[in-house]
Amino acid sequence: MSTLTSVERDTAIFDLINREKHRQESGIELIASENFTSRQVMEASGSVLTNKYAEGLPGKRYYGGCEVVDEIEQIAIDRLKELFGATWANVQPHSGAQANTAVFLACLNPGDKIMGFNLAHGGHLTHGSPVNISGKYFQPVFYGVEAETGLIDWDKVEETALKERPKLLICGASAYSRDWDYERLRAVADKIGALLMADISHPAGLIAKGLLKDPFDHCHIVTTTTHKTLRGPRGGVIMMRNDFENPFGIKTPKGALRTMSSLLDSGVFPGTQGGPLEHIIAAKAVAFGEALSEGYYNYATQVAKNAQAMAKAFVDKGYRIISGGTDNHLMLIDLRTKNGVESGLTGKLAENTLIKADITINKNMVPFDDKSPMVTSGMRVGTAAMTTRGLVEADMERIVDLVDTVLVNNDNDAKIAAVKTEVNEWMKQYPLY
Ligand SMILES: *Cc1c(COP(=O)(O)O)cnc(C)c1O
Repeated sequence: MSTLTSVERDTAIFDLINREKHRQESGIELIASENFTSRQVMEASGSVLTNKYAEGLPGKRYYGGCEVVDEIEQIAIDRLKELFGATWANVQPHSGAQANTAVFLACLNPGDKIMGFNLAHGGHLTHGSPVNISGKYFQPVFYGVEAETGLIDWDKVEETALKERPKLLICGASAYSRDWDYERLRAVADKIGALLMADISHPAGLIAKGLLKDPFDHCHIVTTTTHKTLRGPRGGVIMMRNDFENPFGIKTPKGALRTMSSLLDSGVFPGTQGGPLEHIIAAKAVAFGEALSEGYYNYATQVAKNAQAMAKAFVDKGYRIISGGTDNHLMLIDLRTKNGVESGLTGKLAENTLIKADITINKNMVPFDDKSPMVTSGMRVGTAAMTTRGLVEADMERIVDLVDTVLVNNDNDAKIAAVKTEVNEWMKQYPLY
């Protein structure tokens, strides 16, 4: 018997994995950043590739035995480029945060100014939060939404940018339900000689299928996670449609200006990471292949339709959606009022009560929130995961009914238990794996 087959089965962990599988299958998943990958994505990510070191890039590795992983990583790169119409991509970032950090290392010096979307308005930690490297090593300034409309005022973004003159302008968010004016932002960036980066972590799948504006012609650099609407394994990527000579005067040993792509490659490895996760890169390749299919176009279209149906259902019940609706797969709901009167709800109460009915959402700050990040006044919901499960518009109305029943009866354990039973029974009709 080999030493490996005699290793005792780790029942502690595998029992827990089974419990988690059951949790995912029996509940309603509304967390906007989550999704369910295909079996083959999981199969690739749980493969022997986890055993391989492959520091470097395909064809230029620091380790032997990389012939096979070279082919895998090259397929991942080629499929990703095709998916977004990019001409360069790095598929090695371990996560969205890693992708962004690699861009910062490639484009900035410590202390340089960056300008991103306000965290408290739906931005991401990696766009300048004081607790993230982006806010600790660089000097962050922010733009946000208008209190009355919940929308970004592009004139104000320009005003702030001209005053602050950041070296890197960042667009993209985690809880903004509207599309972005990339063309306008590029014009602003050009006025101040800044680089423009789009972090499309959330809506990437919708962008890939042409359902939202295309950032690639206008943004110098585009980053995304691979596990949200893109429905791949957890990870990140960096892309460009047009490579260019770096504007910082960084030269090759022969004296030529280095390309931006080469700086970005170095920003990932050796800048901020060691060996790439080739098992995850294989899973990314599988997911990109899936995303190139007709079936995925239908999926992305349904995600958007479901979000429209869900937003309408919440509005019909008297909930206030920030900006009044959605262009993508998610929405942010200000729970403080319902039908214009005070509701007594907070994000924390909503999250903790809905979970008792096996409905998962996340509490979220709303713009100009008067509560702390641990309490919050809002909840963020999205349709990517439940659309993967096969639900359509009419089901979104039923979900909103269930959510509303729980929120309205948040102190009534019997009513909440009845919703949980209904959720569990309903989800049995939509087996996941
Ligand atoms: C989710 C997200 C990230 C970070 O992704 P991780 O994989 O969790 O590191 C970065 N930027 C935005 C806008 C996101 O929504």
